[in-house]
Amino acid sequence: MDGASALTCAPILILLGPPGAGKGTQARMLQERFGLVQLSTGDLLRAAVAAGTEAGRAAEQVMKAGGLVSDEIVLAVLTERLAQDDCARGVVLDGFPRTTAQAEALDAMLAAGGQRISAVISLDVDAARMVQRVAGRFTCGGCGEGYHDDFKPTRTPGICDACGSEEMTRRTDDTARTAMARLDAYAAETAPLIDYYDRSGTLSRVDAMGAIDRIAADIARLVNGA
Ligand code: ADP
Ligand code: ZN
Repeated sequence: MDGASALTCAPILILLGPPGAGKGTQARMLQERFGLVQLSTGDLLRAAVAAGTEAGRAAEQVMKAGGLVSDEIVLAVLTERLAQDDCARGVVLDGFPRTTAQAEALDAMLAAGGQRISAVISLDVDAARMVQRVAGRFTCGGCGEGYHDDFKPTRTPGICDACGSEEMTRRTDDTARTAMARLDAYAAETAPLIDYYDRSGTLSRVDAMGAIDRIAADIARLVNGA
C-alpha cells in the first residue's frame, strides 16, 4: 500500500490556538494516547535551523523576531515530513496551518490523496495572559518535560523533577518581546482560520485555560467522536 492510501482512514487533527495555549503539550498527549504522530512546524523549523539547511537559514531571523516564516518554506518542510511512513498512523498538526494560504494548500494536498481533516480543535485561551506563559517557560533537555518559572518550577532549582537532568533549555523566541510579536502574528494571520474551519463544519472549541488533564479529556472526547 502506498503512503497516500494508507493515510485514508487515519485521523488528521489540527490544533489551533495562540502561542502559549498548550498546543505542544496537548499534541504530545494525543500522540501518547492515540498513537498519532505530532507534527509541529515550529519543531521542524527549529530542527532545520539547528541543521543549517537552506530552509533553516532562511527561517532563523524571522523566527527570532516572532514573525511568520514564508508559506513556501513551511509547506516544504511539512510536506517532506508528511511523506514519511509513520505519518500513515494519523497525525496531529500543531502550529500548522497558520495562514489562509497554508490552510488552502493543506486542503488541496489532502483532497488530491482522497483524504480530509478529521477535526480542528481550537484551544480557547485568554490571549492577554499568553505573554507571561510563554516568557517563563523552559524544557528539560533530558526528557522533554515542560516547566515554567512562575507556574511550574522544578522542585530543586535547575534539576528536572522527572529525570534528574540538569540540562534545561529555553527557546530563544520565548522572550516577552518576541512573544508579543508572535501573538500579533497570530491575531492577524492565524485567528481568521477559526472562521475558515467553522464554515467547513470541522471546528470544535475547547476551553484551554484550566488544568492540563481536564483539557486533554475534553480533546479526547472530541477525537473519539470525530
Ligand atoms: P508557538 O506556537 O508557541 O508560537 P511554534 O513552535 O509553533 O511556537 O512556532 C515557532 C515559530 O516558528 C513561529 O513564531 C514562526 O516564526 C515559525 N512557524 C512555525 N510554524 C509556522 C507556520 N505554520 N507558518 C509560519 N511560521 C511558522
Ligand atoms: Zn527531565
